Amino acid sequence: MKRNTTIILILLLAGLALYALTTAEPDTFTGRIRLSGHSVYLDTASSSHLMLLTAGLIRDSVWIPSDSLQVTIRAFENSETKNLEVISITDHRGTVEIRDLDRNPLHQANSSYRVNAAGCIGCNLCPRNCPVGAISMQGRKAVIDQSKCIECGVCISGKDRWRGCPVRAISK
Ligand code: SF4
Ligand code: SF4
Repeated sequence: MKRNTTIILILLLAGLALYALTTAEPDTFTGRIRLSGHSVYLDTASSSHLMLLTAGLIRDSVWIPSDSLQVTIRAFENSETKNLEVISITDHRGTVEIRDLDRNPLHQANSSYRVNAAGCIGCNLCPRNCPVGAISMQGRKAVIDQSKCIECGVCISGKDRWRGCPVRAISK
């Protein structure tokens, strides 16, 4: 009987812990974006964090991080990795919701961007410039991971980051 009571108590506590986890509110972090390689950091007054911009999670693919941009982020901090699981990002243009409070993505990627392997000369420039690390080199050819690509267009036109693929090997 006593054993049953202990088990019920443990289950109850586990349930309460789970409830607390799932209903927790994200923290707010304010700072500046710092781009470094394929990683996007948020430098706050107290520390720096690696933001998890796992692609396809950014609404309409319009939120492109730029260096030194001032932002406020609602996010859960992963205590082990110190990475942020971003719920929303607010910059001078407004707020972009990325995940729900259960940390599930709100916006799934369905990228149509592709590299024409025959045209790619393997210059390795697009992987360095893709803001979310969606491009990798396989052999001497660039390959876009459609589940990561946020369709920002940087690899094609360069936007303000570079000049885009020099041989026009990327299309959408
Ligand atoms: S920039 Fe163009 S040519 Fe260079 S690796 Fe990428 S797809 Fe290939
Ligand atoms: S459009 Fe190109 S640069 Fe932008 S996320 Fe997709 S692969 Fe990367």
